[in-house]
Amino acid sequence: MRQTADDVVRLAQEAGVQLVRLQFTDILGVVKNVAIPAAGLPDALAGRVLFDGSAVLGFVRSEEADVYLLPDPETFRVDPPGLEDPPAARMVCDIVNPDASPFPGCPRSALKRVLDQAGEMGLAIQVAPEVEFFVFERDQQGRATIRTQDQGGYFDVSPGDVGEDVRRAAVLELLAMGFPVAASHHEVAPGQHEIDLAPTDALYAADLLVTLRVVVREVARRFGCHATFLPKPVTGINGSGLHLHQHLSRMADGQNVMAQDGHLSSMGRRYLAGLLAHAPGYTAVANPLVNSYKRLVPGYEAPMYVGWSESNRSPLVRVVTAPPDRLHLELRSPDPSANPYLAWAVTIQAGLDGIARGLEPPAAQPRNLAAAADADRLGLRRLPDSLASALDALKRDALMREALGAHIAEQFLEAKRIEWDVYAEEVHAWEIDQYLTVY
Ligand code: GLU
Ligand code: MG
Repeated sequence: MRQTADDVVRLAQEAGVQLVRLQFTDILGVVKNVAIPAAGLPDALAGRVLFDGSAVLGFVRSEEADVYLLPDPETFRVDPPGLEDPPAARMVCDIVNPDASPFPGCPRSALKRVLDQAGEMGLAIQVAPEVEFFVFERDQQGRATIRTQDQGGYFDVSPGDVGEDVRRAAVLELLAMGFPVAASHHEVAPGQHEIDLAPTDALYAADLLVTLRVVVREVARRFGCHATFLPKPVTGINGSGLHLHQHLSRMADGQNVMAQDGHLSSMGRRYLAGLLAHAPGYTAVANPLVNSYKRLVPGYEAPMYVGWSESNRSPLVRVVTAPPDRLHLELRSPDPSANPYLAWAVTIQAGLDGIARGLEPPAAQPRNLAAAADADRLGLRRLPDSLASALDALKRDALMREALGAHIAEQFLEAKRIEWDVYAEEVHAWEIDQYLTVY
């Protein structure tokens, strides 16, 4: 049973909540919130909180700055004690026009449109993200660094490591907020951690990820550290991914339609083929920073080629076959800097397109690819190798732009092209190191 507006008002009263944060993200996935007093909840739930959208990147052209926040009662969560006193609560919102129609610049509404299409095909989609991040020290002035004392590795217990304490505290707070945390562990690189969520409705999984990033950063700050979801903060060690586990079931009876006799069903194969076919097109959205492409390089467990496998972890898509009744696909390219609503929207749209067009995937990738020559021999395409080429690929992929909606696609491409141009014009420390004394 979903929470209703009445439940929200009652829960807020019971918890003594005084402030409610109405949370939403801009096109670039940056979390914004408008705080209202608890007494304003009935009005807010009726969609009567107005804000000036022109202050938020990508939301509005200046002549249509008035938009409303429409909170989703299901997303109401009281923050755990300790985060704020008296306790605050938060609710995730859609952005709507004055006539209550979805605002075209609302990323959450873009995802809903794609999920509605799945619904029309009789399909329900659950997503389980694996979120990787680093916990770094701050310097004496409190500024974030990329330093860590921690020497831990994959699944290690690293006593005395403040990063472990941050992760544990963050997970306890997420559990207290009702998050379906499935597991958490130290990741391969020093200072790197992972939190895995259990599969949830795709829309709520995106909402959860937005809040998770806020909670982890806030908890780290309390420990005097800095948590970052930047995909590749340190040269020479693993970057941080956001592996997306996608489950597909029949709406009518919840039957897993990806599985057949312990392998991918024909529908699963088609969904997989769609994920592969549109991979270049959705990469700019799943890997939206200049820095994202420094993660998608050889040697750090991140994919570079458009391939799939049932037996190894290196390809773009892995078929997760155990347990057989939960068989599903894991997409390994996205990173945690992505706007989750948009990343889910484009990748799910890609999979649905595979089903709609009856696409067949190429042969499975046989093993870990050791060298680019192997990929060439197998005829595997390379994922875009920079933000610039990913933007070109998105421009060429009409369906991926449609998944975003024309308004978001246009604003996204424009903002990201500027980001790339600024980066490309900058003279970087590497160039000075390499060239200054040689030429
Ligand atoms: N950190 C790796 C990445 O960039 C993934 C490691 C893993 O397999 O969990 O995607
Ligand atoms: Mg991992």
